[in-house]
Amino acid sequence: MKPRYSLGMATGRIFNIQKFSLHDGPGIRTVVFLKGCPMSCSWCANPESQKLQVLRTRDVDDPNKFADDSRDYTIQQVLEICEQDRPFYDESGGGVTLSGGEPLVQHRFATSLLHELRQSGIHTAIETTGCVSEQVFAAALEELDLVIMDVKHWDSNQHRQWTGQPNTLPLRSLDQAVAWGGPLLVRIPVIPGVNDSIEDAKALSSLLAEHGVRKVELLPFHQFGERKYELLGWDYLFKGVPGLHAEDLAEYQAAFDGVEAVVG
Ligand code: SF4
Repeated sequence: MKPRYSLGMATGRIFNIQKFSLHDGPGIRTVVFLKGCPMSCSWCANPESQKLQVLRTRDVDDPNKFADDSRDYTIQQVLEICEQDRPFYDESGGGVTLSGGEPLVQHRFATSLLHELRQSGIHTAIETTGCVSEQVFAAALEELDLVIMDVKHWDSNQHRQWTGQPNTLPLRSLDQAVAWGGPLLVRIPVIPGVNDSIEDAKALSSLLAEHGVRKVELLPFHQFGERKYELLGWDYLFKGVPGLHAEDLAEYQAAFDGVEAVVG
Protein backbone atom coordinates (compact mmCIF):
# COMPACT_ATOMS: atom_id res chain seq x y z
CA MET A 1 0.00 0.00 0.00
CA LYS A 2 1.25 3.47 -0.90
CA PRO A 3 2.11 5.78 2.03
CA ARG A 4 -0.22 8.75 2.35
CA TYR A 5 1.21 12.26 2.48
CA SER A 6 -0.60 15.55 2.66
CA LEU A 7 1.03 18.71 1.41
CA GLY A 8 -1.83 21.14 1.94
CA MET A 9 -2.29 23.96 -0.57
CA ALA A 10 0.74 26.17 0.16
CA THR A 11 3.00 24.10 -2.04
CA GLY A 12 2.52 21.39 -4.62
CA ARG A 13 4.89 18.55 -5.40
CA ILE A 14 5.71 18.62 -9.10
CA PHE A 15 7.95 16.25 -11.05
CA ASN A 16 8.11 18.17 -14.31
CA ILE A 17 7.04 21.44 -15.89
CA GLN A 18 7.08 20.96 -19.64
CA LYS A 19 6.93 23.98 -21.91
CA PHE A 20 5.84 24.15 -25.57
CA SER A 21 3.66 21.04 -25.44
CA LEU A 22 1.39 20.54 -28.45
CA HIS A 23 -0.38 17.37 -27.29
CA ASP A 24 -2.17 18.22 -24.07
CA GLY A 25 -4.95 20.54 -25.16
CA PRO A 26 -5.27 23.32 -27.74
CA GLY A 27 -2.38 25.50 -28.87
CA ILE A 28 1.02 25.79 -27.25
CA ARG A 29 0.82 24.77 -23.60
CA THR A 30 2.79 24.47 -20.42
CA VAL A 31 2.11 21.12 -18.75
CA VAL A 32 2.52 20.96 -14.98
CA PHE A 33 3.00 17.34 -13.86
CA LEU A 34 1.91 16.81 -10.26
CA LYS A 35 3.01 13.87 -8.11
CA GLY A 36 0.70 11.23 -6.72
CA CYS A 37 -1.75 8.86 -8.38
CA PRO A 38 -4.44 6.53 -7.00
CA MET A 39 -3.73 4.15 -9.87
CA SER A 40 -0.67 2.09 -10.72
CA CYS A 41 -1.18 1.26 -14.40
CA SER A 42 1.17 -1.47 -15.58
CA TRP A 43 2.10 0.55 -18.69
CA CYS A 44 2.50 3.93 -16.92
CA ALA A 45 4.94 6.17 -18.83
CA ASN A 46 5.60 8.26 -15.70
CA PRO A 47 6.02 5.68 -12.93
CA GLU A 48 7.87 8.21 -10.76
CA SER A 49 4.59 10.11 -10.59
CA GLN A 50 2.67 7.44 -8.74
CA LYS A 51 4.02 7.94 -5.24
CA LEU A 52 3.74 11.32 -3.58
CA GLN A 53 7.06 11.01 -1.82
CA VAL A 54 10.21 11.88 -3.77
CA LEU A 55 12.02 8.72 -4.91
CA ARG A 56 15.73 9.31 -4.41
CA THR A 57 16.85 6.33 -6.45
CA ARG A 58 20.16 7.05 -8.16
CA ASP A 59 20.75 6.31 -11.82
CA VAL A 60 23.10 3.29 -11.98
CA ASP A 61 24.87 4.84 -15.00
CA ASP A 62 25.10 8.35 -13.57
CA PRO A 63 25.22 8.66 -9.76
CA ASN A 64 24.61 12.42 -10.02
CA LYS A 65 21.23 11.79 -11.56
CA PHE A 66 18.08 10.75 -9.72
CA ALA A 67 15.17 8.78 -11.14
CA ASP A 68 12.81 11.42 -9.76
CA ASP A 69 13.48 15.18 -10.03
CA SER A 70 10.41 16.26 -8.07
CA ARG A 71 10.40 19.39 -5.96
CA ASP A 72 7.87 21.50 -4.12
CA TYR A 73 6.66 24.75 -5.70
CA THR A 74 4.46 27.52 -4.39
CA ILE A 75 1.54 28.59 -6.56
CA GLN A 76 3.35 31.86 -7.19
CA GLN A 77 6.43 30.04 -8.50
CA VAL A 78 4.36 27.98 -10.94
CA LEU A 79 2.45 31.08 -12.05
CA GLU A 80 5.72 32.90 -12.77
CA ILE A 81 6.97 30.00 -14.92
CA CYS A 82 3.68 29.80 -16.83
CA GLU A 83 3.55 33.58 -17.26
CA GLN A 84 6.84 33.49 -19.19
CA ASP A 85 5.02 31.83 -22.11
CA ARG A 86 1.90 33.97 -22.17
CA PRO A 87 2.75 35.39 -25.63
CA PHE A 88 2.78 31.83 -27.01
CA TYR A 89 -0.56 31.02 -25.37
CA ASP A 90 -2.08 34.20 -26.78
CA GLU A 91 -0.71 33.58 -30.25
CA SER A 92 -1.73 29.90 -30.46
CA GLY A 93 -4.88 29.70 -28.33
CA GLY A 94 -2.91 27.68 -25.78
CA GLY A 95 -2.63 27.74 -22.01
CA VAL A 96 -1.73 25.54 -19.06
CA THR A 97 -2.59 21.86 -18.49
CA LEU A 98 -2.32 20.12 -15.14
CA SER A 99 -1.26 16.50 -15.52
CA GLY A 100 0.41 13.82 -13.45
CA GLY A 101 0.02 11.38 -11.88
CA GLU A 102 -3.45 12.44 -10.94
CA PRO A 103 -3.30 16.21 -10.40
CA LEU A 104 -6.27 16.13 -8.03
CA VAL A 105 -4.42 13.98 -5.49
CA GLN A 106 -3.09 17.43 -4.45
CA HIS A 107 -6.50 18.95 -5.06
CA ARG A 108 -6.22 22.04 -2.87
CA PHE A 109 -3.03 23.13 -4.59
CA ALA A 110 -4.27 22.11 -8.06
CA THR A 111 -7.63 23.86 -7.78
CA SER A 112 -6.07 27.01 -6.32
CA LEU A 113 -3.51 27.05 -9.14
CA LEU A 114 -6.25 26.62 -11.76
CA HIS A 115 -8.17 29.47 -10.13
CA GLU A 116 -5.19 31.82 -10.26
CA LEU A 117 -4.43 30.91 -13.88
CA ARG A 118 -8.03 31.53 -14.88
CA GLN A 119 -8.08 34.83 -13.00
CA SER A 120 -5.11 35.96 -15.05
CA GLY A 121 -6.83 35.04 -18.31
CA ILE A 122 -4.93 31.83 -19.06
CA HIS A 123 -6.84 28.87 -20.56
CA THR A 124 -6.89 25.92 -18.14
CA ALA A 125 -7.05 22.18 -18.79
CA ILE A 126 -6.60 19.03 -16.75
CA GLU A 127 -5.61 15.47 -17.62
CA THR A 128 -7.41 13.39 -15.01
CA THR A 129 -8.01 9.74 -14.21
CA GLY A 130 -11.41 10.70 -12.80
CA CYS A 131 -10.47 8.60 -9.78
CA VAL A 132 -11.44 11.42 -7.40
CA SER A 133 -14.37 12.31 -5.17
CA GLU A 134 -17.39 14.12 -6.56
CA GLN A 135 -16.73 17.17 -4.35
CA VAL A 136 -13.08 17.46 -5.35
CA PHE A 137 -13.92 17.14 -9.04
CA ALA A 138 -16.79 19.63 -8.79
CA ALA A 139 -14.46 22.26 -7.29
CA ALA A 140 -11.91 21.69 -10.07
CA LEU A 141 -14.55 21.84 -12.82
CA GLU A 142 -15.39 25.39 -11.73
CA GLU A 143 -11.86 26.43 -12.68
CA LEU A 144 -11.49 24.51 -15.95
CA ASP A 145 -11.87 25.32 -19.64
CA LEU A 146 -11.16 21.74 -20.78
CA VAL A 147 -11.25 18.28 -19.19
CA ILE A 148 -9.18 15.47 -20.69
CA MET A 149 -10.10 12.10 -19.19
CA ASP A 150 -8.77 8.62 -19.93
CA VAL A 151 -11.02 5.55 -19.94
CA LYS A 152 -8.82 2.49 -19.58
CA HIS A 153 -11.07 -0.56 -19.48
CA TRP A 154 -14.77 -1.37 -19.88
CA ASP A 155 -14.61 -4.25 -17.38
CA SER A 156 -14.18 -3.20 -13.75
CA ASN A 157 -12.33 -6.36 -12.69
CA GLN A 158 -9.83 -6.04 -15.50
CA HIS A 159 -9.55 -2.32 -14.78
CA ARG A 160 -8.57 -3.23 -11.22
CA GLN A 161 -6.17 -5.92 -12.41
CA TRP A 162 -4.26 -3.53 -14.69
CA THR A 163 -4.53 -0.22 -12.81
CA GLY A 164 -5.04 -1.21 -9.18
CA GLN A 165 -8.51 0.44 -9.12
CA PRO A 166 -11.98 -0.54 -10.35
CA ASN A 167 -13.53 1.71 -12.99
CA THR A 168 -16.37 2.83 -10.71
CA LEU A 169 -15.03 6.26 -9.73
CA PRO A 170 -13.68 7.12 -13.21
CA LEU A 171 -17.08 6.35 -14.77
CA ARG A 172 -18.87 8.38 -12.09
CA SER A 173 -16.54 11.29 -12.85
CA LEU A 174 -17.14 10.81 -16.56
CA ASP A 175 -20.87 11.29 -15.94
CA GLN A 176 -20.04 14.39 -13.89
CA ALA A 177 -17.90 15.82 -16.69
CA VAL A 178 -20.59 15.12 -19.31
CA ALA A 179 -23.21 16.79 -17.09
CA TRP A 180 -20.86 19.76 -16.54
CA GLY A 181 -21.26 20.44 -20.26
CA GLY A 182 -17.89 22.08 -20.93
CA PRO A 183 -15.30 20.90 -23.42
CA LEU A 184 -14.44 17.25 -22.70
CA LEU A 185 -11.88 15.08 -24.48
CA VAL A 186 -12.15 11.36 -23.67
CA ARG A 187 -9.14 9.21 -24.54
CA ILE A 188 -8.42 5.49 -24.51
CA PRO A 189 -4.81 4.36 -24.17
CA VAL A 190 -4.79 1.23 -26.36
CA ILE A 191 -2.53 -1.27 -24.61
CA PRO A 192 -1.48 -4.64 -26.08
CA GLY A 193 -3.07 -7.54 -24.22
CA VAL A 194 -5.08 -5.19 -21.97
CA ASN A 195 -7.79 -3.54 -24.08
CA ASP A 196 -6.66 -3.90 -27.71
CA SER A 197 -9.00 -6.61 -29.05
CA ILE A 198 -11.93 -5.91 -31.36
CA GLU A 199 -14.23 -7.14 -28.56
CA ASP A 200 -12.66 -4.54 -26.28
CA ALA A 201 -13.27 -1.83 -28.87
CA LYS A 202 -16.94 -2.82 -29.19
CA ALA A 203 -17.43 -2.98 -25.42
CA LEU A 204 -15.69 0.39 -24.90
CA SER A 205 -17.78 1.89 -27.67
CA SER A 206 -21.04 0.70 -26.02
CA LEU A 207 -19.89 1.87 -22.59
CA LEU A 208 -18.97 5.35 -23.79
CA ALA A 209 -22.22 5.72 -25.74
CA GLU A 210 -24.16 4.74 -22.58
CA HIS A 211 -22.35 7.52 -20.73
CA GLY A 212 -23.19 10.12 -23.37
CA VAL A 213 -19.75 10.33 -24.99
CA ARG A 214 -19.85 10.86 -28.76
CA LYS A 215 -16.17 11.11 -29.63
CA VAL A 216 -13.03 9.44 -28.33
CA GLU A 217 -9.32 9.72 -29.05
CA LEU A 218 -7.31 6.50 -29.24
CA LEU A 219 -3.77 6.71 -27.87
CA PRO A 220 -1.54 3.96 -29.30
CA PHE A 221 0.73 2.26 -26.73
CA HIS A 222 4.31 3.52 -26.71
CA GLN A 223 7.46 2.63 -24.83
CA PHE A 224 8.40 6.09 -23.50
CA GLY A 225 8.49 4.89 -19.90
CA GLU A 226 10.77 1.87 -20.15
CA ARG A 227 13.99 3.64 -19.15
CA LYS A 228 12.28 5.16 -16.11
CA TYR A 229 11.48 1.70 -14.75
CA GLU A 230 15.16 0.80 -15.12
CA LEU A 231 16.15 3.96 -13.21
CA LEU A 232 13.70 3.19 -10.44
CA GLY A 233 14.66 -0.49 -10.30
CA TRP A 234 11.00 -1.46 -10.81
CA ASP A 235 9.69 -4.38 -12.89
CA TYR A 236 8.16 -3.38 -16.21
CA LEU A 237 5.55 -5.77 -17.57
CA PHE A 238 5.74 -4.34 -21.09
CA LYS A 239 9.49 -4.66 -21.57
CA GLY A 240 10.17 -5.36 -25.26
CA VAL A 241 6.50 -5.08 -26.27
CA PRO A 242 6.47 -3.15 -29.56
CA GLY A 243 4.70 0.21 -29.67
CA LEU A 244 1.53 0.63 -31.74
CA HIS A 245 1.04 3.00 -34.66
CA ALA A 246 -2.06 4.56 -36.19
CA GLU A 247 -2.15 1.94 -38.96
CA ASP A 248 -2.19 -0.86 -36.35
CA LEU A 249 -5.44 0.54 -34.98
CA ALA A 250 -7.46 0.76 -38.22
CA GLU A 251 -9.64 -2.29 -37.49
CA TYR A 252 -9.97 -1.37 -33.81
CA GLN A 253 -10.99 2.16 -34.73
CA ALA A 254 -13.58 0.88 -37.24
CA ALA A 255 -15.20 -1.28 -34.52
CA PHE A 256 -16.44 1.83 -32.69
CA ASP A 257 -20.12 2.27 -33.36
CA GLY A 258 -22.13 5.32 -32.34
CA VAL A 259 -18.95 6.92 -31.01
CA GLU A 260 -16.48 8.56 -33.37
CA ALA A 261 -12.97 7.23 -32.76
CA VAL A 262 -9.91 9.16 -33.93
CA VAL A 263 -6.29 8.19 -33.41
CA GLY A 264 -4.33 10.76 -31.40
S1 SF4 B 1 -3.33 6.97 -14.21
FE1 SF4 B 1 -1.67 7.77 -15.48
S2 SF4 B 1 -0.11 8.51 -14.03
FE2 SF4 B 1 -1.52 7.18 -12.89
S3 SF4 B 1 -0.53 5.18 -12.93
FE3 SF4 B 1 -1.97 5.27 -14.64
S4 SF4 B 1 -0.78 5.96 -16.40
FE4 SF4 B 1 0.42 6.41 -14.55
